[in-house]
Amino acid sequence: MIEYKNVSTIYDDDFVALDNINLEIKDGEFVSIVGPAGAGKSTLLRLLTREITPDKGKVIVDGVDLAGISGNAIPLLRRKIGTVFQDFKLLTSKNSFENVAFALEVCGANHRQIHEDVPKVLSIVGLTDKTNSFPHQISGGEKQRLAIARALIHRPRIMLADEPTGNLDLVNSYDVLRLLMKINELGTTVIMVTHNRDLVNAVGRRVVSMEKGKI
Ligand code: ADP
Repeated sequence: MIEYKNVSTIYDDDFVALDNINLEIKDGEFVSIVGPAGAGKSTLLRLLTREITPDKGKVIVDGVDLAGISGNAIPLLRRKIGTVFQDFKLLTSKNSFENVAFALEVCGANHRQIHEDVPKVLSIVGLTDKTNSFPHQISGGEKQRLAIARALIHRPRIMLADEPTGNLDLVNSYDVLRLLMKINELGTTVIMVTHNRDLVNAVGRRVVSMEKGKI
């Protein structure tokens, strides 16, 4: 499903952030990417969402070379890929329902679809009782579960989680991890960047270890 072929990313003309990466991720895998800060983990994810294109090599998703897709195909690609981050990136002036609904509204979804789909994803992440709560009224773990609900709304084939538990305590970290594992069991490919070894061991699946731009 995902293929990096001889991929290098060079920042500021001479800083090699990724050095000839070859990596294949199959449909339905749960892959943890580990490594020290600066190893190139986030860069690897940014290539998948076409925030950046490689300076050398190819990134292929579902058989499509991302370098070749046009500007208006990028939103379609991003709907295929849900993303969650360490800092949640929720809209503070919107409640849980509205945070998830917004992701549908910007794609032109109608009222009926929004009112059908949003409660479903809030239920999957266990936040039905927080539907009307604002981000400042819910815990860190709940915020991340809300971010996951928003990422799920387009039924993505791939879920990227960049340090999803970086701001969470142990109990909430495992809640979020269990949720990502459940999403994976339901068929979504999950790629999680983390430097929490215990979490990686709890997943018990494939681990890709990075250092200085190499795997
Ligand atoms: P990680 O996620 O493993 O911490 P990153 O992929 O964020 O690593 O970064 C890899 C290296 O590339 C780091 O040394 C970082 O400082 C550098 N880097 C990341 N983004 C940029 C950028 N936009 N411009 C210049 N250097 C960058």
